[in-house]
Amino acid sequence: MSQIDLLVKNGRIIDPTNGVDTVADIAVNDGIILSIDNNIQFQAKETFDAGGCLVTPGLIDCHVHCYQYSTPLGINPDEHCLSRGVTTIVDGGSAGASTFQGLRRYIADRSKTRVLAFLHIAQHGLAAAGCASGAPGGELDSLNVVTVDDCAKCILENRDMIVGVKVRLSDSIADNGKNEAEAYRQTISVIEIIFTINYFVYRRALLAAKKADVPIMVHHTMSTVKTQVDNDDPTELGCPRDLRPGDLYTHTFHPYRSCIVDPDTLTIYSDVIEAKKRGVLYDVGHGQGSFGWTVAEICARTQFYPDTISTDLHSGNHIGPAYDLPIVMSKFLHLGMPLVDVIRAVTSTPAKAIGWGSRIGCLTPGKEADITVLKLKEGRFPMEDCQSQVRVLDKIFKPVAVWRAGNSHPITEPTPFPNLEAMSQNSREWDNILVKDKARPVVK
Ligand SMILES: [Zn+2]
Repeated sequence: MSQIDLLVKNGRIIDPTNGVDTVADIAVNDGIILSIDNNIQFQAKETFDAGGCLVTPGLIDCHVHCYQYSTPLGINPDEHCLSRGVTTIVDGGSAGASTFQGLRRYIADRSKTRVLAFLHIAQHGLAAAGCASGAPGGELDSLNVVTVDDCAKCILENRDMIVGVKVRLSDSIADNGKNEAEAYRQTISVIEIIFTINYFVYRRALLAAKKADVPIMVHHTMSTVKTQVDNDDPTELGCPRDLRPGDLYTHTFHPYRSCIVDPDTLTIYSDVIEAKKRGVLYDVGHGQGSFGWTVAEICARTQFYPDTISTDLHSGNHIGPAYDLPIVMSKFLHLGMPLVDVIRAVTSTPAKAIGWGSRIGCLTPGKEADITVLKLKEGRFPMEDCQSQVRVLDKIFKPVAVWRAGNSHPITEPTPFPNLEAMSQNSREWDNILVKDKARPVVK
């Protein structure tokens, strides 16, 4: 080969899937990773010197809301994700069975970012929904729209893009909590239907059918479904107790009712720890209200770190307090999560969790060249949580280059942080927080 398309040289390559953490070069041609080696000698049309930087698989944000113009929460994926180093996003249930084709045609097909999706159990998804807290009313107000067959059919017909089922458990969006347990039960039964259909249609062994299974992502805040279930009543559902290995529990570090930390003892509930041992995955889903420094610090004391780091990026939080995925990753680095584990939580773990582990989240020769270059910038960075509590970070991830299938995309800057205006809005929630610092933050 006389000349290849791209050479990324001299970076510290961290690729958890392949157990790689070394300084080397990456050669890319025709959108595919050609080789990774020391001192590659190919001539390239584009050479990028990544000296002093981290080179990782294209970042994956497994909880974003990108159904712009069709849902109040939607943001533009290329503007807010790809331009910050994120090559794959998974929409967190913005679309349901009735509205999914719009997400495919108007968003996924038109974005450079790879867009995948969890399908909402409610037919209309989040077409009329904002954040779960605050405004009354939401997508689960009527169980007439929670239709298992439609959800399962839509998933099976669109497995190239849909990776699982989404349900939001908050009493305010489920007729004051009346419909939550039933919606949760119906969501779990979608999984059973898919499992059964796969088993008979493909006539595979049980193991293969299990592999074809899809996970559910559950949002669990201010819910009537208990975090800790202290009885053996089989009719009572718990969350995370009734999740299966591989299911994702999102908004893990929120400080409100249904928090994973017992507000009286300030320790993590045993049902939460048991579920982690069984293989339930804990996702960040930072959002506008779902990350509290105090909760995250209590968890970090026992190395209870997230399995997947995601933003829950939407129209209300990309200006802060979530900003973008590298900022949310920086918060976990500050909490003591080891660097390689932070990278794993935005590459190999989310890729495997959504059933794409053999295709993305890795830097394997022969795979699509989704590559992110990050710098660890040192300094003094005051950073707010969702309730305007501030911690000072001494380093942050700063994206410097990204390629999606070998194509370079320009990097942009996030909104300057901390965003004092957003903070003064968010600090109004203070009285509703169960796990928080002793003193109310002063927003100057
Ligand atoms: Zn969300």
